[in-house]
Amino acid sequence: MEKPKRKEDQGINETEAAERISRLSSQLRIYNHQYYDLDQPTVSDAEYDLLLQELIRLEELFPRLILPDSPTQAVGGQAAPSFSQVRHRVPMLSLQDVFSWSGVEDFAARVRQVDPKARFVVERKIDGLSLSIRYENGVMVQAATRGDGDTYGEDVTLNAREIKGLPHRIDPGIVDLEVRGEVYMLRSDFERINHDLEERGLKTYANPRNLASGTMRQLNAQIVSERGLGIFVFNIQLMDPNMFTTHSQSLNWLTEQGFNASPGFVICQTDDEIMAEINRIDVLRHDLDYGTDGAVVKVDDLALRDSLGRTSKVPRWAVAFKYPPEEKSTRLLDIMVQVGRTGRITPMAILDPVQLGGSTVSRATLHNQGYIDSLDIRIGDTVRVHKSGEIIPAVIAVEYDKRPEGTMPFKLPDNCPVCGAETAYTDEGADLFCTGVDCPAQLARHLIYFASRSAMDIAGLGEASVDALMKHGYLGSIADIYKLHEVRSELIETGIIGRQKAVDNLLGEIEKSKNNPLYQLLAGLGITGVGRQTARSIAASMNSMDQIRSATAEEFLQIDDIGQITANNLFQFFQQQQTQNLLAQFKAAGVRMADEITLGDDLPLSDLTFVITGSFPQISRDQFTGLLESQGGRVTGSVSKKTDYVIVGENPGSKADKAETLGVKILSVDEFRELFPAAWPKSD
Ligand code: NAD
Repeated sequence: MEKPKRKEDQGINETEAAERISRLSSQLRIYNHQYYDLDQPTVSDAEYDLLLQELIRLEELFPRLILPDSPTQAVGGQAAPSFSQVRHRVPMLSLQDVFSWSGVEDFAARVRQVDPKARFVVERKIDGLSLSIRYENGVMVQAATRGDGDTYGEDVTLNAREIKGLPHRIDPGIVDLEVRGEVYMLRSDFERINHDLEERGLKTYANPRNLASGTMRQLNAQIVSERGLGIFVFNIQLMDPNMFTTHSQSLNWLTEQGFNASPGFVICQTDDEIMAEINRIDVLRHDLDYGTDGAVVKVDDLALRDSLGRTSKVPRWAVAFKYPPEEKSTRLLDIMVQVGRTGRITPMAILDPVQLGGSTVSRATLHNQGYIDSLDIRIGDTVRVHKSGEIIPAVIAVEYDKRPEGTMPFKLPDNCPVCGAETAYTDEGADLFCTGVDCPAQLARHLIYFASRSAMDIAGLGEASVDALMKHGYLGSIADIYKLHEVRSELIETGIIGRQKAVDNLLGEIEKSKNNPLYQLLAGLGITGVGRQTARSIAASMNSMDQIRSATAEEFLQIDDIGQITANNLFQFFQQQQTQNLLAQFKAAGVRMADEITLGDDLPLSDLTFVITGSFPQISRDQFTGLLESQGGRVTGSVSKKTDYVIVGENPGSKADKAETLGVKILSVDEFRELFPAAWPKSD
């Protein structure tokens, strides 16, 4: 019988610990990015928590090995560049999690050492996203997401105005107020909206929390209003004049002011009272229409909170008790490899069916190769499976002592099981993707992207028409776009994409796209790491598809924008038979495969790099980016010494500060227009 792979913490030596700490840290960093920045976690919270707890334990045993950027030392995300940044006046801290009753007892005992008569408030811990909302003289003026938690969040004021349970006006006598709450989506709304997104072939979300977060980060407040979000306000961060000495008083006042403030909170003094309330919430939470992943125990007295203080990540006056997920053991019979619409290759465990959380579970996600490796999951193993929230069941542990003889480590395939193209990791790291340009599993997404404004800009070939044309068998490959004219009369007769005018408009657009500059076609191929800007750089130095497809990785690497990973991606992409076939079909259809002149040299913003920050009344940020790029400029998300200009709008964030520090030129829109009159549209 083989020995368990994962050693007990006590037995681990320093070298092994260093390796495990580094592995856990980078895995958790990836999960943080997926969860906080992309709203697309690939593992459940319970699995994440297990890894985080393991890291905390190892760091406690080997404090010398704590990495400066360890995921245990900071709150997870970053403010997205598409929003203006807000500097937090009060850091939006996380909470210390405890997973056992003794964790709560220890916390209460620590508090009682400072004040033996301390009182506690026990509240539901809602699983949503954190928001801080600021009022000046009784009027809501700003709302910010947590972002990096410590310094900057995203300005989502317009979206926050659409949240139910958040008054726009309160007592005007309050000069300054900042409250913090958890924005959530009802489970029933989540199911409806997710179903609708799926029907439309759009990105779906793993659970209501991620959909709530994705919704709050929409650039169109109408979407927030349509989808419906609620809030649960749980703290006053800052108040002038301050009227309260306890947290419970402040919650009652917030309710009077029209906030949905921590409904059902209970004041407790003894351990028994705290435990009874935590248990009561555990029973109640199954009937609530919003996700409750724990109970928060907080010190009620505000002066006592001040004296207890905080760490860099969490306050010392509260803990979050997390309810354990339901889990069972079963046999892992097989591992099936699936290819999603995005080309992501996911390993799926085929299980001996087991009853869990009220349903029969026979499949569970294994996420990715990194996850399989970190637990050393093998076909034939007895595994622990769990289900939490809306996330599909997951394998969270292996019972190594039950491992049969002769099992082998599992490796995801080098070739896509659907189209045979090579599989590869993207820059993001954890997930393996099929690189086939014409892979049937990803066709819808490829078609939509190919026709989008970022690529060939074929108006009328959006999600709805792609779906309809695929469903009726007219699009089985990207090249089929250029064969649609052959079935014009059928399309008009069946009306699947509209009447004669719509069909002719679309065919006209398709015809027009054949003359697009080379970079648009190159961008449309959807090569990992090659967006419009990189495609422009490639087309600027290699001006025919023939030259591009015969270039070596080293030749790609000579191009300004391109690093080693993208250079390899490009080289491999053009080696594939699928790519060759597709390009041959484009050529036969008369699609332009070369530029006569080198692109971009004579445009007003050629060779200039811009960063945009803040909002602009005259033009949306997307439009502004498009404008700069169409005039030969390059737009990047962060300021560096290579940036030529930072254009600032209203409420600029840290990028303006950084530009000043680095001595990069800062322009207002008006200054930009004066400096580059030829770059601004004449009609405005
Ligand atoms: P947390 O969710 O464990 O707790 C802190 C948060 O709880 C606060 O920020 C606050 O917004 C919220 N909250 C809800 N109700 C509250 C109440 N009544 N009082 C006070 N706060 C309340 O911590 P976090 O830092 O937001 O996130 C860490 C957790 O997120 C992890 O433990 C994990 O469960 C999850 N996570 C999951 C993944 C993943 O890939 N699945 C990745 C990163 C984080």
